[in-house]
Amino acid sequence: RQTSKEALLEFWTQAERKTGVKINYKERVEDITRSGDGFIVKTNRGTYPTRSVLLAIGRRGTPRKLGVPGEEMSKVVYRLIDPEQYKGQHVLVVGGGDSALEAAASIAETDSGGGVVLSYRGAEFDRAKARNRDRVQAAAKTGRLQVMMKSNVKKVEAESVSIEHEGEMKQVRNDAIIVSAGGVLPSEFLKRVGISVETKYGTV
Ligand SMILES: Cc1cc2nc3c(=O)[nH]c(=O)nc-3n(C[C@H](O)[C@H](O)[C@H](O)COP(=O)(O)OP(=O)(O)OC[C@H]3O[C@@H](n4cnc5c(N)ncnc54)[C@H](O)[C@@H]3O)c2cc1C
Repeated sequence: RQTSKEALLEFWTQAERKTGVKINYKERVEDITRSGDGFIVKTNRGTYPTRSVLLAIGRRGTPRKLGVPGEEMSKVVYRLIDPEQYKGQHVLVVGGGDSALEAAASIAETDSGGGVVLSYRGAEFDRAKARNRDRVQAAAKTGRLQVMMKSNVKKVEAESVSIEHEGEMKQVRNDAIIVSAGGVLPSEFLKRVGISVETKYGTV
């Protein structure tokens, strides 16, 4: 069954209201230590004694950075919140997975008047779902999205970005950048709290 992001957010907002569950936003768990028959959970805002802990921190980890000069500028973000906020802007999306393809297609589909460039270092979008690949292809056909395969972002400047593409350094007009280059897993954190992770590459 398909639903929209807006409907899903409304569902979770309702659930929060109905159940009265207390959510501490903008709080990050930094450490969990044993204490008697329970735990002490340390966050960036406080310390909580608890009987048990349910970790539901996902698999995305901390967004991977590009590591290029200028990346610290406020126009560089690591996730798309609302495609509408980029109306009329020249946007660069970096990455080749579902997050990047979805972000690039969503912004291009708003017909914002600016333009979207999708830069990916790989030769094919082989990690993304067929539906997202189709959306990108459709947006590229309309001319609102330019796809740069086998390209690498080298430098971010206030009104442009330098991208190495097909052996050339190209300077592309730019107002905003969304980096969707995957995440760095919280391996250190998991290890510290005593959780070992077993990686299986396609084996059962
Ligand atoms: C672009 C995109 C599109 C997707 N589309 C679909 C789709 O159409 N259908 C579908 O079924 N799935 C989709 N998925 C997958 C789906 O989002 C995930 O499977 C799902 O979100 C996983 O849920 P989760 O609760 O395990 O983790 P997450 O949703 O990743 O939630 C983990 C939460 O924990 C928080 N967190 C992490 N570390 C800490 C910490 N130390 N302290 C406090 N909080 C922390 C994070 O900030 C986050 O809010 C999509 C994913 C992406 C990226």
